[in-house]
Amino acid sequence: MANVSVDLKGKVAVITGASRGIGKAIATRLAEHGANLVLAARTQGPLDATVNELKAKYGIDAIGVPCDVAKLDHLQNLVAKAKDKFKQIDFLVNVAGVSSQHPFHEQPIEDFEMLAHVNYLGYVRLIRLVIPDMVARKDGHIINVVSGSTLVDPIPRGFLAYSSLKMGLRAFLKGLFWEMREYNIKVTSLLPGVVASDLTDHLKDVAVTQRDRLMDPKAVADMVSFALSVPANACPLELAVINQLTTWTKPIIDYKQTQAK
Ligand code: NAP
Repeated sequence: MANVSVDLKGKVAVITGASRGIGKAIATRLAEHGANLVLAARTQGPLDATVNELKAKYGIDAIGVPCDVAKLDHLQNLVAKAKDKFKQIDFLVNVAGVSSQHPFHEQPIEDFEMLAHVNYLGYVRLIRLVIPDMVARKDGHIINVVSGSTLVDPIPRGFLAYSSLKMGLRAFLKGLFWEMREYNIKVTSLLPGVVASDLTDHLKDVAVTQRDRLMDPKAVADMVSFALSVPANACPLELAVINQLTTWTKPIIDYKQTQAK
C-alpha cells in the first residue's frame, strides 16, 4: 500500500479465515510487511496453498493450522501450535466469519447458533486464549474484522442474526479497547462495507445487481496497514471504509431490496 511503511520482520501474526477473501488479503499484506504467519481455516487444501504461496513469494515463515473457530478445542490447538512454532503471538487478526440471509421467523435455530459460535464466540474465545501472554508482556495488537453493517440501524431485513451478533462483537471490542489500554495492548475493529468475496457471492441482491460496486478485499488490508502504521502510543479504535454508491450500505435500506423471496 502506498505511503504506509510498516516493518513487521520477526513479528508473528495469527490470522483466522486466512485461506481466501478478506483473510487472505490481510495475510498477504502482513507477509509483505515481513511478518511470520500462523494461518487458520477449516479446509486444509486452500489453507496449505495460501501458506505455500506466501512463503515462496515473501520469504517469510508460515504454518497453516486447520481450525474450526466454532470449536474451543480447535482454538486451543491453534494457539498451542502457534506458540510451539514461534514462541509468542504479537498480532491476532480475527477474520473467520460466515453470513446467512433469512427472515427471522424462517431461520433455522441451528443457523442462528452456528453464526453465534463462529462470528461472535469464535472471536471472543480466541482473544481470551491469546490475551494473557500479551498482558504479561504488555505488548500486542488484536485486529478484528467486524462489519460496516453495524453502522446500519435498523438492521437490514434478513440479517438480524448476522448484524446483531456483529453489533454485540463491536460493543465487546470497544470495551476491550479501554480495558486493555493500561496493559499497552491495542484493540482495533474494522468495519468494512460490502466486499467482493465468496461470502457475498452467496447473498441475494448484493451479488446479483451490484458486484462492480463492491470493494476489493485489499481495501480491508489497507485498513490493517494503516492500523499498524500509527505511532506506538496511538491506536485506531475503529476504522470504517464503506463503498460509495452501493444502496446496501445506505443507512436506510429500501424495503424491496432486502425482501428475500
Ligand atoms: P469468505 O471469502 O467466505 O472467507 C471466509 C474465510 O473464513 C475462509 O478462509 C473460510 O475458510 C474461513 N472460515 C469460515 N468459517 C470458518 C470457521 N468456522 N472456522 C474457521 N475458519 C472459517 O468471507 P469474507 O468475505 O472474506 O469474510 C471474512 C470476514 O469479513 C467475516 O467475518 C465477515 O463477516 C467479514 N465481513 C465481510 C464483508 C463482505 O462484504 N465480504 C463485509 C464486512 C465484514 P473455510 O471455509 O475453509 O473454513
